[in-house]
Amino acid sequence: MTIQTKQCNRVNYGGTRAATRYIVVHYTSNRGDTAKNNVDYFARENVGASAHFFVDEKETWSSVPEACVAWHCGAKSYRHPECRNSNALGVEICMNDKQGKVRQASIDRAVLLVRALMAKYDIPVDRVLRHYDVTGKHCPGPMVDDPALWTAFRAKLTQTEQEEEDDMRYKYYDDMPDWAQPTVKKLMDKGYLKGEGDGVLNLSEDTLKVLVVGDRAGLYEA
Ligand SMILES: [Zn+2]
Repeated sequence: MTIQTKQCNRVNYGGTRAATRYIVVHYTSNRGDTAKNNVDYFARENVGASAHFFVDEKETWSSVPEACVAWHCGAKSYRHPECRNSNALGVEICMNDKQGKVRQASIDRAVLLVRALMAKYDIPVDRVLRHYDVTGKHCPGPMVDDPALWTAFRAKLTQTEQEEEDDMRYKYYDDMPDWAQPTVKKLMDKGYLKGEGDGVLNLSEDTLKVLVVGDRAGLYEA
């Protein structure tokens, strides 16, 4: 994963952090913003707030150095007994959607970053929290309104490679991309492709590509 850096304005964050025990997930709550927009803003302005990372569907940007305290989950009162700016890294997911929803690709990219941070600082998944879990703030909004989104996010943090691979497979004909369906239908009609029963085909994207190339080459016309 490539992480680009644009250092936050020095007035927006604190000194060296004592410990790194938690990761706090946020969203920027802006529509149509990018990670780059955010790091530019925090580099330029004096806003008295900050986060270590900003993620959108295409890029991951570092703003506050990991060793320093970013000001992302401070509050007058807390729901969480232990997690504070002084012991937590802050990750902001950028909205990047005109409907106000977090795009799945941005969530997926945040998963990759949080996973890398968990490994680097030996942080278990139960110490990955929403801003909401720390202070009660409605952040990241979509993952507070729909706890299933948050549950899915946390599940992905500990997913094994095999589970990930299974996730990437197209189980049913209807789920397959438009470019692959005519080929798959042809192969099913001809009885070349039988699947695993109950209509489960379980094909990877790579396999679909190979089948489509074969179709274009006329291999299945006999
Ligand atoms: Zn937040």
